[in-house]
Parts: sequence; structure tokens; C-alpha cells
Amino acid sequence: MKFSKLFAPTTKEAPKDAMLPSHIFLIRGGFISQTGSGLYNFLPLGKRVLDKIKDVVKEEMDNAGAQEISMGVVNPAELWRQSGRYDVYGKELLRFRDRKDNEFVLGPTHEEVVVDIVRNRVNSYKQLPLHLYQINTKFRDEARPRFGLLRGREFIMKDGYSFHSSMEDLKREFDLMEKTYIQIFTRLGLDFRAVAADSGAIGGSGSKEFMVLAKNGEDDILICDKCEYAANAEAAKRAKKTSEQEPPKANFAKFYTPLDEGSIENLSNFFKIDPFYTIKAVIKKAIYKDRSEIVLFFVRGCDDLQEVKAKNAADALELVEANAEDLKKAGIIAGFCGPVGLPDVKFFIDNELKEEKNLICGANERDYHYVGVSMFNFKDERYADLVEVKEGDLCPCCDGRLSLTKGIEVGHIFQLGQKYSSAMNALFLDQNGKSQPFFMGCYGIGISRLAAVMIEANHDEKGCIWNKQCAPYILDIIISNVKNEAGREFAVKLYEDLKAQKKEVILDDRNERFGFKMNDFELIGFPYALIVGREFDEGKVELVSRASGVKEFVDVDKLSEKLREVF
Ligand code: ATP
Ligand code: MG
Repeated sequence: MKFSKLFAPTTKEAPKDAMLPSHIFLIRGGFISQTGSGLYNFLPLGKRVLDKIKDVVKEEMDNAGAQEISMGVVNPAELWRQSGRYDVYGKELLRFRDRKDNEFVLGPTHEEVVVDIVRNRVNSYKQLPLHLYQINTKFRDEARPRFGLLRGREFIMKDGYSFHSSMEDLKREFDLMEKTYIQIFTRLGLDFRAVAADSGAIGGSGSKEFMVLAKNGEDDILICDKCEYAANAEAAKRAKKTSEQEPPKANFAKFYTPLDEGSIENLSNFFKIDPFYTIKAVIKKAIYKDRSEIVLFFVRGCDDLQEVKAKNAADALELVEANAEDLKKAGIIAGFCGPVGLPDVKFFIDNELKEEKNLICGANERDYHYVGVSMFNFKDERYADLVEVKEGDLCPCCDGRLSLTKGIEVGHIFQLGQKYSSAMNALFLDQNGKSQPFFMGCYGIGISRLAAVMIEANHDEKGCIWNKQCAPYILDIIISNVKNEAGREFAVKLYEDLKAQKKEVILDDRNERFGFKMNDFELIGFPYALIVGREFDEGKVELVSRASGVKEFVDVDKLSEKLREVF
């Protein structure tokens, strides 16, 4: 490619709302352009990067035995009604009607469509397993599209779906996908972790996320300093917490506690005890498909509630703050709530409180607490994992400590089980001639998000730094002065030769100042520049590495050797 012909509209200014390096440099470098909130176009350089990411993903997926297909972006709402997700998916699902008043959605994920493709076409265990994937456009009407390609509304995803005759075979494929993803992200040169995850709106059990460690990440992840354990904060576990302080030993009794505010701090000061021995109540309003209700969550006074865990425990679509009127209606006295003698409301207790003794909790009466509370009389269904795991907590797998870091989710793999196949009546005949819903897995990678992640992971104040795997071109031959006839001829010849060898090379032949061309080289971030400049008359050209900044003069007659290292 000749730079003089390339459509790469580079700019000095970044868009006002661009805060992250990837957003700023992808726009400024002319990789992408924006047409609306969360809507982006890929320009020639961006398209090349995207295709390179796609190629790596496709190669590894094909290698693992998955078959590429392409599904429609527009999905009939009827399919989404069959799975039951039409009503529960929330506002991220864009719903619309055609001229005949038929309802449709723009696919945010494609479980429904792929199940419809496979059902009645695959009928026997003999045709299983089957893994179909696509690399295609998704639409999610995100509440806060931001950070450029990191969270768009329209974006490109690799989504794969596998079908199996047993849970064991699904687990085998899940493990194979974990290995495949590790291979993909390693080839892309990323520093990542596979972490235990919450399954979100997609559902099912058993899921892992692939997180690239990056300070601008939106996700909190906990990583053990000793073993392999790593988890999203939404799903993180820890070894049960203990306290070194003495418990407040007392027989069960109601105690007068005239506290201005029933906070845990006031309560533990009042009794002069470790907050560990108190029970904190967190009151929420849970939103369901067609109703809402007050739900209480009890955790230790020293702990905080993890909202996603709480939402899962209550099986709610969403948890919102409860107002004074909601509390009054439910007969709840904020600041003095406890699990003992609670009015008739839904409540959950953190697993770590199970069978604990010598606790203090609200007596569900203003200015009163119970002491000497034992947690023996609650049904198992009341208990759930509710706590937010924090930096410094103990690892659930070894005696290491957990530390908290930021990550960007680039992939997510799920064991769906029979959730979609049974809802949509997608059946096969097993070895005993019995009809059963398929066992399914699904596997996503954020292809367009990855283009931004590469920059978050690798940039400096001047611009992008692409590695060779994803760079739009590997070598930028810069003619420092186009009026120098001999230099220009040499550069053009070198460019033509390399192009004939199918090398990814670009020739900056523009009639511009040298500094201007170098700025574009640094902003766009090709891995290498070869400068044909003043020293060419002495038989030397200069090779610059974008990543290390190292510049070296190379004798023209030794150049082909050097370029072999470059490519
Ligand atoms: P997030 O928690 O970031 O919203 P998700 O859990 O909704 O992600 P999945 O449904 O698992 O994501 O989608 C698979 C992959 O698609 C994600 O791992 C992510 O890389 C990518 N992805 C999801 N939402 C977006 C988006 N709005 N813009 C760009 N990529 C996205
Ligand atoms: Mg999401």
C-alpha cells in the first residue's frame, strides 16, 4: 500500500468524550470512525487489524473442530418467546416491527437462532457432538455505550454453540474451548487470566471469563498470589473468614440498644465487639418480570453484599434501592433488622453465617437487638453466597491471599446444559432410543473489543504500538525527502520487491515533511519504520522499532538479512 493512496484520516484532536488511550488513538489514527452513540465504522487500517484478529480466532476454532456459519442479525421475536428470553432480557434487546407488524429483535447473542437451525435437523446421538460458530455483528442497546470499541452497541463477536449427547461430552468440549481460548489470546500476545465467572443473562451453570489485565478495565478480578485461582468479583469465593477477637458470649436475649442510627459501627462500639460478630441487613427491592418485592440479605457486619450474587440468590431481574414507603409496607425497621422474628418477607443469609453462634443482630423493633443468636433454625434454601470478596481475603483453594486487579473481559465460555434446548423443544434420540434435549455450551469472544484491548495493553503517549500479529502493516518505509531522486527510487524498488514477496509493507511516499510522516508512524503504531534519509547517500538506511524506540543504521547491502528479522 502506498500512503499517498491510503484512506487513513489521522487527526491531532481526539473526540471530547474519548478518555481511554484505545478510544483516542483508534480515532486519531484513522482506524475507526463514529456514526452515533456506540456505533462505529472500520476504515481500511481498522479493517486490516480486525481481519487479523478474526483470522487467528478462525484458525484456532477450525483447528478445534468447530464449523463456521453465518446467522442473521435480525431475529424473529417468536424464537425469543420460545426460549422465554423475550420478556426477561431487558432493554439491551432492541425490539422492533416490520411493515406487516411482525415483531423482531436485533440479535445480541444467538442461542435461539442456532437452536432453531439444529432442531429437527440433528435427530440422533450419532450426529453429535456438533459445534457451530460465527464471527458476526451483534447489537446490544447498552445503557452506557462508552470507551469506543470496548463497549459499543453494535460490535463484532465470535460466538460458538456446541451440542452434545451428555453432560460429560459438554464438559470435554468446554475444556477444549478453554485450551483453544488460551491459545488464541496467547497468539495475540495478551497478558490474560481465565477466571471463574457469573453466568449473567445467558444463563446456565459453569462459566469462565477470559480477562486481559489492564488498569482501565471495567471488571474487578481477584487473583491468588500463590495458586492458579482467579475469579471475577461477581463470582469470587474465599476461605471462610475468622476473627481473632473473642466472641460476645451470652444467652439468647433481647437487649435495649438506644442507637441514634442502627449502623454496624455504632452497634459494635456499643457492645465493644468485633463487627465480625454482628449481622448486617441489606434491604433491596427485587424486580421480577411482572412484580417487585422487598428482599433482605444478611451478611456479617464486617462484610459487604455483592450485588450480582444477591441478584442471583433472589433470582431477580434487577435489584434497586427500597424507599421508606416500601419498608413501611413490608413492616421493616431499617437499622434494627435481623433474621430472627422477621415479618413475612423474603430473605437470604450468607453461607458463612451457617451454624455460627454468639452473634448480635437487630430484633426487628426500634432500639432493640438480640444477643447470643445462633444460626441453626433456618432452612438450607435461605443460605447463599452473598459476600463481596476483598483484597487480602484468603484464597478458597490454598493458603494464599487474594489481590484485586482490573481486567477487560475478552471472552466468556458457558456450560448451558439443557436450558435452551428444553425450552425450545430441541431433542435428539439417545443410545437407548429415548428422546432428550441437547446438552449445549456457548463460547464468545469480543472481536472488535479485542482491537481496542490490544491498544490498552500496548501504547505510549504518542500512539498505538501494535505487535506483529495484529499490526495493519509490519513495515512503514518512509521516504524522508521525496525530492531525493536516488533515495526515492530505492524505496519504491524495495517496496515493490517486498510486496511481491507478500510482505505487509506500506510506503510513505507523500510529499510531506519528515516529521509529519514520523508522527503518523508513531500514532498509527506500525511495528517498524525504515527511513530512507540523508544517510542513504552513504549507503545507509535507518530501522526504527516502534515498541523499543531503538534506531539503528543498516548498510543497504545487509538490509535483506535485517528485514528477515523484521518480518
Ligand atoms: P460485559 O460484562 O462486558 O457486558 P457480557 O458478559 O455481556 O460482557 P458476553 O455476553 O459473554 O458478554 O459476550 C461475549 C463477549 O463479547 C464478551 O466477552 C466481550 O468481549 C464482548 N462484548 C460484550 N458486550 C460488548 C459490547 N457492548 N461491546 C463490545 N464487545 C462486547
Ligand atoms: Mg454485557
